[in-house]
Amino acid sequence: MTDHDVIIIGAGFGGMGAAITLRKLGYEDLLIVEREDDLGGTWHVNHYPGLAVDIASVTYSYSFEPNPYWKNWFARGSELKQYAEHVAEKYDLRRHMVFGVSAEGARWDDDEQHWVVTTSLVAGTGTTTVRTARYLMTATGFLSQPKLPDIEGVDDFAGTVIHTAKWDDSVDLGGKRIAVIGTGATAVQLIPQIAKHAAALTVFQRTPIWVTPKNDFKIPRPVQTLFATQPWTQRAARAVNGAWLEGMMVTAVLHYKQAKFLNNGAAALAKAHLRRQVTDPETRRKLTPDYSFGCKRPTFSNNYYPTFNEDHVTLETTPIAKITATDIVTADGTSTPIDVLVLATGFNLWDSNFPAFEIIGREGRNLGKSWRQSGYHAFEGVTVPGFPNFISLNSPYSYSGLSYFMTIEVQMRHLERVFGALRDQDASTFEVTPQADAEFLEQMLERMDDTVFAQGSCGTARSYYYTNEGDAVLLRPTSSGSARKAVESFPLEDYTFS
Ligand code: NAP
Repeated sequence: MTDHDVIIIGAGFGGMGAAITLRKLGYEDLLIVEREDDLGGTWHVNHYPGLAVDIASVTYSYSFEPNPYWKNWFARGSELKQYAEHVAEKYDLRRHMVFGVSAEGARWDDDEQHWVVTTSLVAGTGTTTVRTARYLMTATGFLSQPKLPDIEGVDDFAGTVIHTAKWDDSVDLGGKRIAVIGTGATAVQLIPQIAKHAAALTVFQRTPIWVTPKNDFKIPRPVQTLFATQPWTQRAARAVNGAWLEGMMVTAVLHYKQAKFLNNGAAALAKAHLRRQVTDPETRRKLTPDYSFGCKRPTFSNNYYPTFNEDHVTLETTPIAKITATDIVTADGTSTPIDVLVLATGFNLWDSNFPAFEIIGREGRNLGKSWRQSGYHAFEGVTVPGFPNFISLNSPYSYSGLSYFMTIEVQMRHLERVFGALRDQDASTFEVTPQADAEFLEQMLERMDDTVFAQGSCGTARSYYYTNEGDAVLLRPTSSGSARKAVESFPLEDYTFS
């Protein structure tokens, strides 16, 4: 007997999708462990000013749970959090969740054929609990471990320090001298909002980001009503938008070798956007990336570039040498005194994620160590040989398509097939075969050849897409159509069931 049938780590959209699938298959004894104090994953954790999704909301949602009432084409962060709450309520998931509990480690017990999961209370005094479950699923997100910059003296700063993923709404930015380190997609949303309040804002940029116009608009009430009363209209909007995203992914990312004129076109669009929006040529030069469009995640914004026209906003590209109690000092010796330091420095994937906590499989195999030492792999971005009854939703080569929901739904179908087979075969243990895993990896590596990561000029891009060794193993280098086809057609013999 185990404490639970399934333990799922993470109560974001991935974990909730897994729970919905398992409930549909008749599993009721689920425990969803979440280290935060509520559900929603990224959309609960992040609440910095300006937060919004940049995949259209008709697409960035579960296909089986459309929300006709999105207020904007690109939903704001708070709407996504509400949507997550709605899903949890509708599918009765909250009763499975425990909050403020962090997974510390998981170990496969081969004698008992179950997982032993150690958790601790986030706010406690180191109290740990050991729970067992027949199945373990990790849905801990890719962008969930905030990264602090490795800059000398960052801990010495005596003013207020905020990482974007730990935004403190109580901090008054009014009239303050603020520095932002980082110019990724988060900073692009945040900087225009901060500039409204700051007395002086200095943005420290190491690598510029490609920014194209954001075609956002309020969804009029009559359209929302149409989506609600004639759901096929929203499905049609989703299909059209999905096809557009798929087209971009397939051409600009996957087939860069054949279609680089499209990337060049996108880069030209971004440069024209920059020319229209930034008056000073030197600032424009600094904001222009020198790597191929698509090597790192581009973003969309209509108010990022114009911020740099404002007199109280400075774009600093000289590298930071150190941070003191009061200042940021750049390599040329210039000191910028500040009151608030905002770290828009992103997330650490390759040291403290993959996986997010220690996972030990059969014969003492350590998942993180084996990925780092022998290379990243996971069959269909979901399962790994040597780790029975384990589903890793944030695996190498798992992210397919541009909307995360495409990935989530393919993975939900994967679960449905594996757990359906368990039931049909009256089995209780599954494990992917090494051969299936190796063949999948071979396919992924082959397909990588045509991508922007292999063919583009990516040397200066720096992105969380690449491991510490420089390999782009995060994205699945196939169309999401192909991922959908594969999940329907992989032979169940790719798994052993016992
Ligand atoms: P990010 O893209 O990794 O950007 C981090 C930034 O911090 C980069 O500009 C990086 O510079 C800089 N940085 C890191 N360490 C530094 C150091 N030691 N010194 C100087 N600069 C340093 O992180 P993010 O902006 O948080 O975005 C992460 C992802 O979140 C996005 O790509 C996207 O997938 C997601 N996101 C999505 C939305 C949405 O609308 N859906 C919105 C925001 C974020 P380098 O580039 O030189 O390393």
